[in-house]
Amino acid sequence: MATDVIVVGAGPTGLMLACELALAGVRPLVVERRPEPQRDSRALTLHPRSVELLDMRGLAPRFLAAGTTVPGWHFAGLRTRLDFAALDSRHAYTLFIAQARTEALLAERAGELGVEILRGHETVDVRQDSDGVEVDVRASHGRRTLRAAYAVGCDGGRSLVRTAAGIGFPGTDETLTGVLGDFATVDRDDPGLKRAQAKGVLVAPLEDGFTRLVYLDPARMRVPSGEPVTLEEFRTSLTGLCGSDCGVDGPRWLSRFGNASRLAERYRAGRILLAGDAAHIHFPAAGQGLNTGLQDAANLGWRLAAEISGWAPPGLLDGYDAERRPVGAAVVENTEVQTLLAELTLVPQYERPAAALRTMLDEFLRTPEINRNLAARVSALGTAYPARRPDADPLEGRRMPDIGLTVAGSSATRVYELTGRGRFVLLKLTEGDEALPPAVEAGWGGRVEAVTVTGWEHHPELAGVSEVLVRPDGHVAWTSRTGESSERTRALTAWAGTPGAAARD
Ligand SMILES: Cc1cc2nc3c(=O)[nH]c(=O)nc-3n(C[C@H](O)[C@H](O)[C@H](O)COP(=O)(O)OP(=O)(O)OC[C@H]3O[C@@H](n4cnc5c(N)ncnc54)[C@H](O)[C@@H]3O)c2cc1C
Repeated sequence: MATDVIVVGAGPTGLMLACELALAGVRPLVVERRPEPQRDSRALTLHPRSVELLDMRGLAPRFLAAGTTVPGWHFAGLRTRLDFAALDSRHAYTLFIAQARTEALLAERAGELGVEILRGHETVDVRQDSDGVEVDVRASHGRRTLRAAYAVGCDGGRSLVRTAAGIGFPGTDETLTGVLGDFATVDRDDPGLKRAQAKGVLVAPLEDGFTRLVYLDPARMRVPSGEPVTLEEFRTSLTGLCGSDCGVDGPRWLSRFGNASRLAERYRAGRILLAGDAAHIHFPAAGQGLNTGLQDAANLGWRLAAEISGWAPPGLLDGYDAERRPVGAAVVENTEVQTLLAELTLVPQYERPAAALRTMLDEFLRTPEINRNLAARVSALGTAYPARRPDADPLEGRRMPDIGLTVAGSSATRVYELTGRGRFVLLKLTEGDEALPPAVEAGWGGRVEAVTVTGWEHHPELAGVSEVLVRPDGHVAWTSRTGESSERTRALTAWAGTPGAAARD
């Protein structure tokens, strides 16, 4: 069977993208350099918007069963926590789940959707012409060339796809590094452990009984990330930070990571696109990289599928760069701010004012409005894309709230239960017996699910709204307060293309 999209990289971004593409009816092929899935996990967190996206596809239960939830999260390690519960989401928590588990669950889902993953296949070159792309891959049994309509580089920070596409990656080089270690043994009764936490050392239990410790050691924070970490160094640094090595032993993984911060100068070059770390890298402050990659994938999947299926309205695919690049830039920026705050605290001459600054920020964060603002950024629940028309409703571009509802003839009890097929959902909110005209199903059927809702949870953002067009990624495309049919037709055509141009099944 012909491949539509070659996804380079089976990390979280590539796997999520492959699932979204397959759900939308196109054929992705994932090529991954590693012969086996990665066992060690860099990321440990999924934030609220990522869990919402999984929920929209019916995947939240399996992720929740594999992790543990913790209330809220932090910004720059400040003592006052970000209060996710103040945000409007059913998933107002941080889900602690190892990256390896996230990847395994996404790979499982990809398998269910019939996606092929070629492991042990390294991409060594990518070219494009007017009809498609060619991807050269090298495997143990030799080299071959794969062809598809599009290629997406989900191949991480050192992306070969990005380089092959000639896309620049401007930003700043690494200036400081942190260290992580996953240990079979840590002395939990060692008082040094508490002192270490007070000094900003992260101590996190992992699902398999191991414990992760992460620190910034002022004495060694300029050591380049390429230099390996030894157990001896780890113990010495811990002792320097808190007076004890906390009995760490049995390391499974020791790693040094840096704060190089870069953003791709564009996310698309013709038939080649970038997502995840291939498009943005930064220090892992507040755990946002993997989350941002999943959200990139959710934004790109349906657009690319629309383009391949032949019904994408002009500009739909370019909307990916227009919407996601600014988000990438904002994430890079907030991690730079957090890193600066951490670094200042560690530089002797700034130690006192830096501590004072942290105390001030802690106090500010106790103001609900400020806390909500930062929580909305880190959770990504606040991500809003620019509306397409000047007189747009404030809801347009924002995420659709997961309001409770009743739909005749359906078991759905909330909006996110209507989004499992990855299509547009047109909701008609009515108190009476009005329904959407059959023309919607007839014209855009296969791309748009038209749902007449008779009972719905009143939500301040929906006051006065009679129709909402929800995009496949759960953002609001359009709203109506009049129910006027020509307006609806214009909106559907602008987003879901010309009526009648059938979706490919
Ligand atoms: C210490 C640390 C802690 C972190 N903690 C968090 C956290 O808690 N939360 C969070 O959201 N983020 C966190 N991150 C960031 C997160 O790990 C990354 O953002 C995430 O892995 C990016 O996913 P990705 O799929 O885009 O890229 P990657 O995970 O890098 O995956 C890229 C894949 O492409 C493959 N590949 C590369 N080149 C080729 C090639 N030429 N051919 C074929 N395959 C190729 C690789 O083998 C890999 O499987 C952390 C990062 C670090 C360093």
